[in-house]
Amino acid sequence: MIIYKEDYHQISIIEVAERCGIRLKYKDSGTEIRCWCPFCSRDRGQPTASLNQAKGLFHCFRCGEGCNALSLFAKIYGIDNRQAYRELAQHAA
Ligand SMILES: [Zn+2]
Repeated sequence: MIIYKEDYHQISIIEVAERCGIRLKYKDSGTEIRCWCPFCSRDRGQPTASLNQAKGLFHCFRCGEGCNALSLFAKIYGIDNRQAYRELAQHAA
């Protein structure tokens, strides 16, 4: 059994978002970055979601979707967390 916890915390939520093609709004500074939700808003209107760099979490205020870097990647590509981890780990180095 492999423990993923340690490793996937090193995967930046911002990097994952960029790899997934999520549009970020860099106007805001600090740990929270506003972005467009890949599950409900896409690129339309105002950004409805945010990325918390410190906690490594994605959260959408409109559809309520919330996930960490790993599950965000997994959900967008329709794969499970294990596959997502492999994908991300390959490119992490
Ligand atoms: Zn949403």
